Amino acid sequence: MAQAQRPIPAVQDAAYPGVISVDVDLTDLERKIMEVRQTMPVKPGPLTLYYPQWLPGAHSPVGPIGKLAGLRILAKGQVIAWKRDTLDMYAFHLDVPSGVNTLELSFQYLSPVSQATGRVVMTTDIIGLQWHTVVLYPAGHSARAIQVRPSATLPSGWKLASALDEARREADRVVFKEVSLETLVDSPLWAGRYTDRVALDAAGSAPVYLTLFADNPASLKASTEQIDAHKALVRQADRLFGSRHFKRYEFLLALSEHFSGIGLEHAESSENGVKPGYFTEWAKGAPGRTLLPHEYTHSWNGKFRRPADLSTPTFNQPMQDSLLWFYEGQTQYWGFVLSARSGLVSIPDSRESLAQTAAWLDARAGRTWRNLQDTTNEPIVSRRAPQDWRSWQRGEDYYDEGALIWLDVDTQIRELSAGKASLNDVARQFFGVENGRANSAVHLRGRDARAQ
Ligand SMILES: [Zn+2]
Repeated sequence: MAQAQRPIPAVQDAAYPGVISVDVDLTDLERKIMEVRQTMPVKPGPLTLYYPQWLPGAHSPVGPIGKLAGLRILAKGQVIAWKRDTLDMYAFHLDVPSGVNTLELSFQYLSPVSQATGRVVMTTDIIGLQWHTVVLYPAGHSARAIQVRPSATLPSGWKLASALDEARREADRVVFKEVSLETLVDSPLWAGRYTDRVALDAAGSAPVYLTLFADNPASLKASTEQIDAHKALVRQADRLFGSRHFKRYEFLLALSEHFSGIGLEHAESSENGVKPGYFTEWAKGAPGRTLLPHEYTHSWNGKFRRPADLSTPTFNQPMQDSLLWFYEGQTQYWGFVLSARSGLVSIPDSRESLAQTAAWLDARAGRTWRNLQDTTNEPIVSRRAPQDWRSWQRGEDYYDEGALIWLDVDTQIRELSAGKASLNDVARQFFGVENGRANSAVHLRGRDARAQ
């Protein structure tokens, strides 16, 4: 039987000695190429480097390994040969010569030039940097045990937003404070030519900001009422969960025809990509306004509380998606509820939307052969590839059918308690503990998951 060319060491929780630097040049807007340089403290001997494969939020092995190019590894000015593992395409083996204690790595991340080859994350006006695309790390160490010092060089005059804290600026280069590799991958950096930064709640010790990135200044124009609805979202989440599990929260919101759409959760930020009319064509866009409530909810459900089988020590160990009906289903439910409570979506529209969900699921032919639990494997099964027979195959139905489960749980709690309790109480007890503790997931285990 075939084996990896070199045994990959078991994962240790002990701190990786030294700090790895990651420097990314984001100025090549014409070609959309990110130039990466890393320095890595090492010991002589065999070494395996990983490029992240299993991505949090995607719940699947979709790290864009095919877009890594130009890999060159130097030690004391000498080129070190590397060899990719023939069973694990994300693993690069090499030997560190004696007397060498630092490697200099350089490579490019060839970000998609058009939607035909992937999500467009570099346009002439907006950049969305996800650090997992621009980092190699030593195998055998937990992502929490590796310290990284990130920096990025931006196009001149651009502004950025990120949950990372800045250490200093050197002209257009921004150096961030050291973080663990786990936090780095959970802390994207967005930058843009046309931006606006809105404090949704700057009063307390855990402020919340919304930064807008657009193709042109016109798309940034938001009315007071529109911004107030986003402020209400923050207030309503406080009332629901009774806690904040971040030191500062950054909503990153792109309003663009060219920067690809996205909704991706992080503990202290979220990546949200919508069409340019989000504010300027407000009356047309109610369904899209559940996006920010959904992603914000994930700071509690998915990041602070995380299914144990999704919580892997590195980005190169397989995840299991068995609890996505909870992780995504309950988030979808609270996303609907918080949209309505904040006024981002009207109450009649919210009810219509739930009714529409029930209607399409009622006609979902695939429910006769494939149960909801099995759909939690869908991110790994089909990786969001287009389907020919959607109703029969089913897709990531754990979002919407999961939301209906939690609606049902809510109504049952209300009935059984004669109106004294609801799912609101569960949310507060389950997520509202350890206020202020950030960046360290509490793991859920199957049906035994309960608040401690
Ligand atoms: Zn989600």
